[in-house]
Amino acid sequence: MIKINDLRKVFRTEEVETIALNNISMEVKEGEFVAIMGPSGCGKSTLLNILGLLDNPTSGEYWLDNKEVGHLKEKERTQTRKGKIGFVFQSFNLIEEMTVYENVELPLTYLKVKASERKKRVEEVLRRMNISHRAGHFPNQLSGGQQQRVAIARAVIANPKLILADEPTGNLDSKNGKDVMDLLTELNREGTTIVMVTHSQHDASFAHRIVNLFDGQIVTEVQM
Ligand code: ADP
Ligand code: MG
Repeated sequence: MIKINDLRKVFRTEEVETIALNNISMEVKEGEFVAIMGPSGCGKSTLLNILGLLDNPTSGEYWLDNKEVGHLKEKERTQTRKGKIGFVFQSFNLIEEMTVYENVELPLTYLKVKASERKKRVEEVLRRMNISHRAGHFPNQLSGGQQQRVAIARAVIANPKLILADEPTGNLDSKNGKDVMDLLTELNREGTTIVMVTHSQHDASFAHRIVNLFDGQIVTEVQM
């Protein structure tokens, strides 16, 4: 599903040049659950952002479903990502001015799904994430665990084939972290491919494979 070749990402500001990814190559097969680990600043989020078509590499190839997508313009990236890739972030990234219901509905609105179908699907996913009772609330009225369940609901509502999660349990206590890992594991069992960045050895133990990054390079890969 994913194949990257010699991927390099360099950030340049006026004074400094940071090599965030230094010639990385890897593959992720359809249905796989891959954990990415490594110290702070080693390039994990940069890699995930490129995989999620939020950013382009400086050089190298990114093949997604047999199409080279590493150097698309922003508009094409958005188009390619739509309905195909779901994101979950450490800081939830919900829209504060929108209710839980509206946050979760948003991807379907972008995809121009008709209103009756949107309602059916939002209600279904809110039930599944056990958050229906909060549908009319705003993100700041929810606990961290509830916000992350809303974020997962939003990530999965369009049935993406790929979920990218950047430290999804990073801001959660162990009970809520466990709920999030259970949800991700269940989605993976149903066929969704998952690439997750984590600092937690325990969370990584749910994956099929752990990719360890250091200084922008893959140092080891461990099959579980
Ligand atoms: P991680 O997620 O592993 O903590 P990141 O991918 O966020 O690491 O960052 C990798 C390196 O790239 C760091 O040195 C970071 O400071 C740098 N970096 C990340 N994003 C940017 C950016 N937009 N501009 C400049 N430097 C960046
Ligand atoms: Mg990061």
